[in-house]
Amino acid sequence: MDFFSDYTMTIDGRAATAPAGFPAYNPATEDVIAEAPDATRAQLDAAVDAAARAFPAWSARPIAERQALVARIGDLIEAHAEAFMRLLTLEQGKARKGAEWEIGGSVVWCREIARQSLPVHVVEDTAERRVETRRVPLGVIGGITPWNFPVLLAIWKIAPALVAGNTMVLKPSPYTPLCTLKLGELLRDVLPPGVLNIVSGGNDLGAWLTTHPSVRKISFTGSTATGRKIMASASGNLKRITLELGGNDPAIVLPDVDVKQTAEKLFWAAFQNSAQFCVAAKRLYIHEDIYDELATALVDYARTVKVGDGARQGIDLGPIQNRMQFEKLRDLLADAKANGQRFLIGGEIGDGPGFFVPVTIVDNPPEDSRVVVEEAFGPVLPLLKFNDLDDVVARANATEYGLAASVWGRDIETARQVAERIEAGTVWINEIHSFSPHVAFGGHKQSGIGIENALEGLAEYTNAQTLVVNGAA
Ligand code: NAD
Repeated sequence: MDFFSDYTMTIDGRAATAPAGFPAYNPATEDVIAEAPDATRAQLDAAVDAAARAFPAWSARPIAERQALVARIGDLIEAHAEAFMRLLTLEQGKARKGAEWEIGGSVVWCREIARQSLPVHVVEDTAERRVETRRVPLGVIGGITPWNFPVLLAIWKIAPALVAGNTMVLKPSPYTPLCTLKLGELLRDVLPPGVLNIVSGGNDLGAWLTTHPSVRKISFTGSTATGRKIMASASGNLKRITLELGGNDPAIVLPDVDVKQTAEKLFWAAFQNSAQFCVAAKRLYIHEDIYDELATALVDYARTVKVGDGARQGIDLGPIQNRMQFEKLRDLLADAKANGQRFLIGGEIGDGPGFFVPVTIVDNPPEDSRVVVEEAFGPVLPLLKFNDLDDVVARANATEYGLAASVWGRDIETARQVAERIEAGTVWINEIHSFSPHVAFGGHKQSGIGIENALEGLAEYTNAQTLVVNGAA
């Protein structure tokens, strides 16, 4: 199979081209690297119909068989890991290490989710009756993914949806369709036709999926703004929804940390994947006693990090994935500059080609400035001073978001007390970004609805069904 040409959709187990296509770009060069099919409305309907036809047989298969096929998806990704990593870097921009993390993670997720199943809860088992609640699949799932981790976040949906007995129509971001289309091609002969359909297209295609009457659930990862639209359009037939949305995660650094050691961890907490990471540390609150020392250590470390074309050896951070996000960051930097904010490093965007934004650290901007309030989704990090725990907790929580957070300090009891007061779905202490297929992940407030991963995540691909069996006929 050639990963670098001939991108087709997968509908009912077969390749599908579309009357029109749209370009995919290499964000490091701005060159067009391929054309992806732009699905028509009729093709989306055909994909949903195929998934609906495949559902009865797929859901009736023993779960062990479904688990084995999901584990096999992991084996196949592993067998083609090199091609996936190269294509991921080409279309997404991320550097080699990041591509290894994403593709390696996708393999692990398939294998581990394939070990999960939902127990039957027996509530009563008496001579008179047996009452049990079991979990049954929903039907056709619509999956919609963003452009920052296109493969891993697709697997986070495909693996539990299929293990639970559902079928799926998945739509990748129009900015990063290529790896997902190749994943569909790879699985064409592995999964029964219609179990996993991959369609590519623009935002309209997403809207058709979310309003389709035969789709029973939407599992969406993307921005809060789109999440709101999806919640509204899913109401037509009361679709279930799981929404993994944006974040503006605070990291709180207490005065007793080892500054040198923590600086490197905090750098990556903020800038991993060029900060195109829903759970990147996006506001760094530093106790005033160590502010200057830590700011200097962060800048010193930042000088050692290489930004460039992710396909080149020795590059740590790639470009921003697309022009839309790149222009948003340009605007954010212009705003910071116009308001007299001080850059400790970075702040100047070069002439290109490529959507490169330098690592930028902003020195203690006002709490209501755009660099603090908005989710930058790019390498622009505000450092903020605090001297009082109640104050920093209030500032950390003063956002519509509640995705994740981190607290850094040697006195674990104090760090824990702070962590427990943060309104966020995940709070890490002295580490960050440790994810597991067996650990629940989801946002509070406007960072989302529902959970991915763990048995709670698997359960979101099911309905509860209670059986009350009275032995007397
Ligand atoms: P986005 O919301 O612009 O797009 C995400 C997906 O939604 C794309 O596939 C897009 O085509 C589709 N879409 C757009 N409009 C639609 C509509 N009206 N109906 C249905 N689908 C539609 O998000 P993005 O820019 O691709 O991703 C960045 C955002 O995703 C950031 O806010 C980031 O924090 C968030 N994110 C969250 C998580 C998480 O797990 N919570 C993970 C990664 C990214």
